Order: sequence, then structure tokens, then C-alpha cells
Amino acid sequence: MGYIEPAPIKDKANPFESMMSRFNIATEALGLDEQVYNVLKSPSKQVSVSLPVTMDDGSIKVFEGHRVIHSNILGPSKGGVRYAMDVNIDEVKALAAWMTWKCAVVDIPYGGAKGGIKCNPREMSAGEIERLTRAYTQSMTGVFGPDRDIPAPDMGTGPREMAWMMDEYSRSMGTTVNAVVTGKPLVLGGSLGRVEATGRGVMVSALAAMEKLKINPYHASIAVQGFGNVGSYAALLLTERGCSITAISDISGAYHNDNGIDIRSAIDYRNSNNGTLEGFDGAELMEDPNELLTLDVDVLVPAAVEDVIHSGNVDNVKAKLIVEGANGPTSAEADDIINKKGIMVAPDILANAGGVTVSYFEWVQNRLGYKWTRERVNRRSDRIMKDAFDKVYGASLKYKVPMRIAAYIVAIDKVSETYKFRGGY
Ligand code: GLU
Repeated sequence: MGYIEPAPIKDKANPFESMMSRFNIATEALGLDEQVYNVLKSPSKQVSVSLPVTMDDGSIKVFEGHRVIHSNILGPSKGGVRYAMDVNIDEVKALAAWMTWKCAVVDIPYGGAKGGIKCNPREMSAGEIERLTRAYTQSMTGVFGPDRDIPAPDMGTGPREMAWMMDEYSRSMGTTVNAVVTGKPLVLGGSLGRVEATGRGVMVSALAAMEKLKINPYHASIAVQGFGNVGSYAALLLTERGCSITAISDISGAYHNDNGIDIRSAIDYRNSNNGTLEGFDGAELMEDPNELLTLDVDVLVPAAVEDVIHSGNVDNVKAKLIVEGANGPTSAEADDIINKKGIMVAPDILANAGGVTVSYFEWVQNRLGYKWTRERVNRRSDRIMKDAFDKVYGASLKYKVPMRIAAYIVAIDKVSETYKFRGGY
């Protein structure tokens, strides 16, 4: 994305507080009992570790790692592990809570968790990343488990890291436990359709929202910020449904073409170019990558990092629909203005839930010792995503609230009902 302007200080509430501000609005609309409120707002476990790793030059570097279990009320906790330089405990806490609400919105039997290691994988060799991943997994053997807490990929991690986690955990247990991790390579028990699952869910949510807004996909223009796993598959699948992707971006910059970008060739280019779009000539390099967010398009898909739509740029957003591929791409301060402008938002905990949904399918297949076809995976995840969209849309009409708050209402209602049945001490 080249240089992206950071959100103004007033938007930079710590990410957990920013999650809580939406949670508070939803619990009020729902009339949630204060005692249950107190249970749901507190993460149930936080583990922070120091991980000494021998680097290729023989030096020892100590990395900071975290795993936060926000809730296991609905079942074993589930959520990815992020490798990035800005990983910190508050961010991991917020992301863990979002996983709780996300799993509840799509109605899968998991609680929420998230992990992270503060590191820059782009500057590390494969061997260094492997040793770091194994050290992290080793330090979490008492936390992870197929019936306890199940990690998955997130920013900076993918099937390769999941294979190392699965192997390291299995060595400790003395037996192969493939259901302890999802997002694995196919040969290790990964699921068909998992790699593209989050982008596919973004596509299903975008089409469902366009239908409500009476935007014809064949006439729709879309800007996608972020061209990693989520953004690139969302863009590809949306073009296959007739939409025109007029802008894309990654760390190398933003690329714009009013006639629509050939996404297949952009993906091929990125894959053959060290993972970046640098030098891509199927569109024009924009002078200011920040302007991708304020282009005159029908739909905006932020699929990169947190807080990119904030009080400093939200006034200029022209899209009629925002579909959140990333977790937390809109700051809490920007919500009000988005609502005043009448922009519909398919919020993160709904729109990007396709990934964890197919993670759930992967876990089910591992436990069955059986493999589903790609068609079965796609059909079932599309149905779950569409049902979740309809449920959230219904709640937004019933409670007269924006889609984001409606998604929280659906999620909190489900988790609190379950809690009441399970009871406590
Ligand atoms: N990291 C992804 C997310 O934020 C996937 C989590 C999972 O599959 O458990 O939804």
C-alpha cells in the first residue's frame, strides 16, 4: 500500500477499547444482563512468552509471543496467529474477542482466540521462521489442543507455518494430531477451499449486500485495498461474478484502471514477483495510495490492516458499500460518519468469517478421517455465509441499528444464551 497515512491520534484508542465501544452499544440495544456483560467482556486467558531463537548468523534473538483466549463458551477457542512488527497484547486481545463474535455470527461451535509474534517475516529466512514457529508452538503445548484451542493462519502466516505447528505439537504428544491446527497444506489434512475461503466469503457478503442496495454486480466498480490472501481472492471471485475491480493495492503502492483490472494476471504477476505488485503494468500506479480508499467506486473492500478508514478520511469515502475483508479496518470514530452518510457496511465479523468457517470444516474432516470435495466445501460455506448475512440484516431491521452493531447483537445474543445454559460457579 506504499505509505499509508496513519489514523489520527483520537482514532487510536487501544484496539481492545475500540472493540468494546461497539460491544457496549450492542449489549445496550440487546438489554444484556450486567453480570453476563461482565463475563463476556473479559478475556478468559492471556499467555505471553519470550522466545529465544538462533538466527542464521549464530546470534540469539528473543521474540515476544502471545496467545489470548477470549472465550470458550461455545466450544474450543479458535483463531489465527499473526506474525507482524506491530503485534502487541492489546491488539491480540481485540482480535481474540473478534474471533468469539465471528464464530458466533456464522454459528460454528467455537470460542475465540488469537495469537501473535512480534517479528518481520519478510526479513527472516525460512529456517529462522521455522525455529521461531516451533519455539512458539512448544511454549503453547499446554494451551493448544484439538478440543482446547486451535490456531490457524493470519497475517504473515500460511500453510507452511501451520505444518510446522502441527508437526511440533504432534512430536510433543507422541502422535499425529492434525486437528490441532487448521489452514494446513492439503497433504497434511488441509481442506480443499481453505486458501480462498476468506476471499470467497467476502464475495458472498458483497453480493448479498449489493442485492439489498440494488447494485447490479455487472455494473459495479470495486476498489480492493490489500492484495494478500483475502484481497486477491475476493477480487478474483468478484470479477468472476461480473464486477469490475478498478483499483488494487499492496505494500508496493495502489494501482488504478477505470476499465477494470485483469485480476488473474495481477495474481500471476504477484506470484512471480516475490509476492508484490511492484512494477505491475495492468493499471496505473497511483501517486497517493491513500486515495484508493476515497475513489468514486460502488464498493470498497479494505482487506489489509486495522483502522485504515478513520476520522481523517471517512468524509471523503464515496463508496455506497464497504465490505470488510480485514479485521477492524474501520476505526470506531469513523462508524458514526459512515452511518450518517448512509453507507452500508458488511462488517469484519460477518464478511471475513468464511476463513474460520472452512477452518471448521477442515477440523471436522480431520476428526472424521475423511475428505470433502471442493464443491461440498464451497456449497456449505456459501450457505453459512448467506444465512449469516440474512440473520444480521434481519437484526439490523429489527433493532434499527447499522449492520455492524446488528452483527454484534446476533453474536452476543448467541454467546450469552449459551452461557446462561452452561452456567458458572
Ligand atoms: N485468521 C483468520 C481470521 O481472522 C482465520 C481464523 C481461523 O481460521 O481460525 O478469521
